[in-house]
Amino acid sequence: MKVMKFGGTSVGKPERMKQVAGLVMASKEKKIVVLSALSGTTNALVTISNLIANNNRELALTRIKELQDHYYQFIDELLSKPDFVEKARKQVEEHFEFLEIILRISFSEALHKDILAQGELLSTKLFSLYLDENGIDHKLLPALEFMMLDKFDEPQLATIKLRLTQLLDQYPDMNVFVTQGYITRNARGEVDNLKRGGSDYSASLIAAVLQASVCEIWTDIDGMHNNDPRIVENTKPVEQLSFNEAAELAYFGAKILHPASIWPAQAHNVPVKLLNTMEPLAKGTLISADAGSEGAKAIAAKDNITAIKIISSRMLLAYGFLRKVFEVFEKYRTSIDMITTSEVAVSVTIDNDSFLKEIVSELEAYGRVKIDSDHTIVSIVGNEINITEDILSRVFQATTTIPVRMISYGGSSHNISLLIPQAYKAQALRALHSHLFF
Ligand code: ADP
Ligand code: ASP
Ligand code: MG
Repeated sequence: MKVMKFGGTSVGKPERMKQVAGLVMASKEKKIVVLSALSGTTNALVTISNLIANNNRELALTRIKELQDHYYQFIDELLSKPDFVEKARKQVEEHFEFLEIILRISFSEALHKDILAQGELLSTKLFSLYLDENGIDHKLLPALEFMMLDKFDEPQLATIKLRLTQLLDQYPDMNVFVTQGYITRNARGEVDNLKRGGSDYSASLIAAVLQASVCEIWTDIDGMHNNDPRIVENTKPVEQLSFNEAAELAYFGAKILHPASIWPAQAHNVPVKLLNTMEPLAKGTLISADAGSEGAKAIAAKDNITAIKIISSRMLLAYGFLRKVFEVFEKYRTSIDMITTSEVAVSVTIDNDSFLKEIVSELEAYGRVKIDSDHTIVSIVGNEINITEDILSRVFQATTTIPVRMISYGGSSHNISLLIPQAYKAQALRALHSHLFF
């Protein structure tokens, strides 16, 4: 069994969706195809939901109608037989009627999640109709029947495995299964999601519980590049990454992978391949237990970081001080990304400032607290990077004109991280690229 996940751009145009069907049929192996929403849809649904939340229902309705028209056009190009076109229009209509019903009832967080789920529900239905029209035998598996979060919004692997296996067992001779990425049920049984870009995470979870032969992530670029191609010129695909390297890159901002998408595959030792739908023969990136080579491989950046400094000349060196500081973050379920200490102060970074006020007010019991928001963590990732010759001198040369706020080195053998003001991000990525990769 293998998992093939196709992202928004891979299904975002009718001809692309047809190409996806071709890629799915190109191999004989049994497979689960995980689809994202058509590109632009989830953003449009977020806008619609926000308009409803702000009681701007008229504009919300306009946006709903625009999106609906987009889907009608899509169907006209995707399907050719009139009865299939008719069927597809009916299904699209149902989803948009649902959105219009939501317009009339009072808004809630649960409804927001229901709205966001429509994209993946639509894309998989349309893909399934296209397969039907072309006589390709397959089964559409509703992700909402097997994907499940616990009360901490973490995936319940055991339940996912049990339910998915039970579903698959009902169709022993079926070779192609199609399901939605991103959407799930939460511990209250409501429709929920795995956060933006979450279809990668769905694919990895499915691949893990089924012990798949491979988890293929098909996207619009030929693999993980050695820097953010949206910001830096002349980036190149990295052929091989270890799970640890890929996990660091995903967590520290490489948009090609959802931040949590590596651990499930890694825990079950399922190789992950990043492949290009537009260029299926390109090598892409293989992610497995084997790093392949040593040294700096790629650079990634994660924005919206807040640095918190606790200054306490009296208490810092006392044992138990750091425990107390960490307990505050634990209490508010806020994870720390970077940490540095000195004689008199400790600095940490967080990417989720939902409880910043509460955290700061509790930390003030232990010392003076200083906040720096709008920072970026730039991570240089590579196998044994900590002992790579010249690495630090090159990093420092690249950043001479950048006000580096924190440095993390030696925490793992595959990551060096710098905290810089967000405004310097592009400059830092470009300078590091030219000093490390040329
Ligand atoms: P999908 O819709 O298939 O999930 P995404 O847009 O989420 O695709 O991810 C692919 C995009 O990630 C690329 O088009 C590229 O612009 C961006 N990206 C950012 N950093 C990297 C990187 N290091 N390597 C490759 N792509 C990256
Ligand atoms: N459609 C969702 C999003 O745009 C999930 C995904 O594409 O992975 O965030
Ligand atoms: Mg994505």
